[in-house]
Amino acid sequence: MNDRHLFYRHLAQTSSAPLALEIERARGVYMYDKQGKAYLDLISGISVSALGHGHPHVLGAIREQLNRYAHLMVYGEFVQSPQVRLAALLTGCLPAGLDNVYLVNSGSEAVEGAMKLSKRHTGRTEIVGFRGAYHGSTQGALSIGGHEGLKSAFRPLLPDVRLLDYGEEGQLGQISERTACVVAESIQGEAGVVVPSVSFMQALRRRCDETGTLLVLDEIQTGFGRTGRLWAFEHFGIVPDVLCLAKGMGGGLPLGAFVAPREIMRSLTHDPVLGHISTFGGNAVCAAAAHAMLEVLIREKLWEQVPAREARFRELLKHPTVKSLRGKGLLLALELEDGQVNRKVIRKCLERGLLTDWFLYADHCLRIAPPLTIRMEEIDRACRILAEVLDEF
Ligand code: PMP
Repeated sequence: MNDRHLFYRHLAQTSSAPLALEIERARGVYMYDKQGKAYLDLISGISVSALGHGHPHVLGAIREQLNRYAHLMVYGEFVQSPQVRLAALLTGCLPAGLDNVYLVNSGSEAVEGAMKLSKRHTGRTEIVGFRGAYHGSTQGALSIGGHEGLKSAFRPLLPDVRLLDYGEEGQLGQISERTACVVAESIQGEAGVVVPSVSFMQALRRRCDETGTLLVLDEIQTGFGRTGRLWAFEHFGIVPDVLCLAKGMGGGLPLGAFVAPREIMRSLTHDPVLGHISTFGGNAVCAAAAHAMLEVLIREKLWEQVPAREARFRELLKHPTVKSLRGKGLLLALELEDGQVNRKVIRKCLERGLLTDWFLYADHCLRIAPPLTIRMEEIDRACRILAEVLDEF
C-alpha cells in the first residue's frame, strides 16, 4: 500500500479536498516531490519557514541538541540551556517591559496561556476579541475567533466573550473595567490580511490603559520579520502587555510562547501553584532550533529586506484580474473575483510548480507569504507563473 492510500485511510482528514502533495524533501524556497518536480513555496507552511527550508544553522543546532538531550522534564522545572538562551535572546529584541517568556508548543496554546494569565492577573472574566480574527482551534482560542461558521458547531464555548469590529474605533468604549484582556492580531491574517489604521491601534492601546485591561497582541503569523519590522506592532507605535508568538519561531519545529512582564507572569506561580503547565512546552530541540533561527534573523536583519521584496511583488502583480493586493511586507493577499476563480488559479499554479493557498476566512484571496529569504529572481519567477495563469481568466 502506498503512502497516498495510507494517508486517506489512516490519517484524520481536515477537509474533503486536501492538496495531498507528496513532498520528499525541501531546501530554501523549493519543495521537491517524488518525481523530482520542484515547487516554489509561496506560503512557508503558513508563515512558518521564515528562513526557508533546511537552513544549515538551524539544522546544525537541532543535531547538536539532539546529541545532548531531547526531553528531560516538564516545562519550568529544570534549567535547560536551550530554553533560557532562547528567552534571553528573544526578550533582548523586545521592548524592555516584555522580559519574561512562557514557552509552549503552538500558537493556540500561546493564546490559551495569555487568556488565562490575563484572567488570573486582573481578577476579571470578560475577554474582548475581534470579528475576522483567527487565534487557533482549541476551545478557548476558538471562543475569541471572529468567524461564526467555524465556531457554531462547537458551542457552548467560553462565556463572557465580546467581539468587536476590527478597525472600528467607535466600538472601543465597550472595553471596560470588567475586561481582563483584549486579544487582537496586529494585522489580521486569515481574514485575508487586514491592516488596521495606526489611529485604531493607538486608540485600542489607550482604551486598555484607561480601563486597566491587558492588551494581548497575537503576532503568531506577523512576528519575526514577516511584515517588514521585527514585530508588526512597531508599525503602529504601540507595545502590548502580552505578546503571543509561534509559527516562524521554531525554525520549522513546533514552538510557541506568550511573553509578558515578569511581575504579571509571576501570577501563574501561586493561587494556584502550577497555574499553567505543559509537558512539552519549550522542548529543548525546538528551543535550540528557535535560538538558531532568531540568531540568523537578527544577524542578517532579514526584516530590512522585506519591503523591497514586497515592492517587487506589487510591481509585478498588476494584472486586470487582480482586484487588490492587500497586506504588509511578505504577508500579502491577492484578491481575485471569487473563491471559485481562486481555487482554479491555485490548482493551475500548482501544476506549474508554484505552491500557494487561500485564507481561512477569505477564499477569494490568494496567499503570498514566502520565506523571508526569497530572492528577487525567485519572486520574478513566481510572479511570471501567476501572471501566465491569471491570463487564462
Ligand atoms: N493565531 C494566528 C494569527 C494564526 O495565524 C494561527 C494559525 N494560523 C494561530 C493563532 C494558531 O496557531 P496554531 O495553529 O499553531 O495553533
